[in-house]
Amino acid sequence: EFYASPVLDELSRARIGYLFVFHNRSEEVRLNRMKDDFISIVSHELRTPMSAIQGFTEILLEREVPPEKRVRYLETVHNEVVRLSALVDDFLDIQRMETGRLAYHFEPLDLGGLVAEVAGQWQGTDKHTLRLDLPAHGFFIRGDRERIIQVLHNLISNAVKYSPGAEAVDISLSCTDGRAAIRVKDYGLGIPEESLTRLFQKFYRVETTRHRKIRGTGLGLSIVREIVDTHGGEIQVESVSGSGSEFSVHLPAYEPPELKGRIAVLQEP
Ligand code: ADP
Repeated sequence: EFYASPVLDELSRARIGYLFVFHNRSEEVRLNRMKDDFISIVSHELRTPMSAIQGFTEILLEREVPPEKRVRYLETVHNEVVRLSALVDDFLDIQRMETGRLAYHFEPLDLGGLVAEVAGQWQGTDKHTLRLDLPAHGFFIRGDRERIIQVLHNLISNAVKYSPGAEAVDISLSCTDGRAAIRVKDYGLGIPEESLTRLFQKFYRVETTRHRKIRGTGLGLSIVREIVDTHGGEIQVESVSGSGSEFSVHLPAYEPPELKGRIAVLQEP
């Protein structure tokens, strides 16, 4: 936005030029758009679990419900509460990231062990088989354990969530030129090309009907990118709409001094 006002000579009042004032509104516009996205996501993402919780608890309080149905209703209520608290955690993480108050505790991490651990937690909770291709040797990075778990968890969760009909998700770890690469590959909806550059923005969700049917806030990947950035790494995505996506996270490898020379850290054996 800009406006121009004439500048007059003090004595003759003749016009001697123009004063141009530029006002950069793009930041304001961006913040307003984010606020709108926030409100619409919050209302939708909070209302859906809340109405399920309200509905099922009302039934349980008001009617005689056979024991097996009771268990099912309580499971639904429990799942919705878990979902709500994950949502609140994501909001808090985003807020802490924006205000620079998200604390990181860096330590040497055995990445292969961590990937196996997170994948193990997923196994059996869902119909997908997680196929792991992990090196036998420990690959180390310096990182925050909880935050790296969060990265892995978000990527696996998306791979599973956005490939409803597929049987497997492939997870691999490799190391070249001093960088560890974790790849999470699914055989699901994929991502339209025009969405690829916007995927890591806060609240961004792909707009196709099939994507929209799947619940989410559009926060997970922005959190992932922030964590990866803070670790000095990069995240990349390759996708073919309709056939699947592959997210790869590249992190600087680290050789713990006490293990120096004893493990293959920097190159694949
Ligand atoms: P959400 O909570 O919406 O899943 P994310 O930030 O994790 O938020 O992802 C942003 C958007 O990127 C998602 O809404 C989805 O449209 C798209 N997306 C993320 N991962 C995948 C994937 N593996 N396959 C297809 N689309 C994906």
